Amino acid sequence: FLKDRTALVTGSTSGIGLAYARALAAEGANVVINGFGDADAIEKERAGIEAEFKVKARYSAANMMKPDEIAAMVAEAEKEFGAIDILVNNAGIQHVAPVDEFPLEKWDQIIAINLSSAFHATRAALPKMKAKGWGRIINTASAHAFVASPFKSAYVAAKHGIAGFTKTVALEVATHGITVNAIAPGYVWTPLVEKQIPDTMKARNLTKEQVINDVLLLAQPTKQFVTVEQVAALAIFLCTDAAKSITGTTLPMDGGWTAA
Ligand code: NAD
Repeated sequence: FLKDRTALVTGSTSGIGLAYARALAAEGANVVINGFGDADAIEKERAGIEAEFKVKARYSAANMMKPDEIAAMVAEAEKEFGAIDILVNNAGIQHVAPVDEFPLEKWDQIIAINLSSAFHATRAALPKMKAKGWGRIINTASAHAFVASPFKSAYVAAKHGIAGFTKTVALEVATHGITVNAIAPGYVWTPLVEKQIPDTMKARNLTKEQVINDVLLLAQPTKQFVTVEQVAALAIFLCTDAAKSITGTTLPMDGGWTAA
């Protein structure tokens, strides 16, 4: 149902972002993927999306820490496709340290990538979206948009900020056919998480089940990881006509984490 639409997903060379891009392409949207990683692996993914879903897929290497590169990425996508119809602000990093020892450059990086890049991309993409009178902006927040965990000051501040930014933009564009929402996943099963399990089993002398339930999923009542496909499916729903009255929200998908 997204044929002739164009989606740009920041931070989509792996994990949740890649799942968004593939799900949007599966619905017929042309996609612009973005992020870091091995050039051959990224090209394989890009070409694979084109071949599998019969859409156009482009790659932008823009660094989400750099406002000028973000603006150029949006301009380039608009030059080829006319407008970005669906903007997914998803790029994000994490750093864990006590606030009084938090490295200054990590604070600045996290605020730039996890929060400010959403502002820069939204600012750049909105004029063409408004001109078309249709748009979807979807931000990846986190359970940490609602609650905190110690030692994640920059991440929690950025994700709370994303929730506020989402509300503000939603109000500004409410009469333009554009909805603005955030998705707030709990712990998501990604290769990155999966790879940590054997080491944690060894380091703590625990079974795989103990690592998952007592270490990783301590905060998640279902004791199940959210999957990237589940997160992407919510984004797809937000693009439907049925979801056009949902705007300004941050929707939890966290196995009950923020209910507790
Ligand atoms: P990931 O590490 O698999 O993917 C992050 C993506 O962002 C990658 O494509 C990476 O190349 C890209 N990226 C990082 N820095 C960048 C930069 N400066 N410029 C451009 N791209 C950059 O992580 P993920 O788990 O898929 O995370 C995606 C989003 O989901 C993040 O915003 C994260 O905070 C959020 N999130 C993740 C979880 C989880 O448990 N995995 C939970 C809640 C929210």
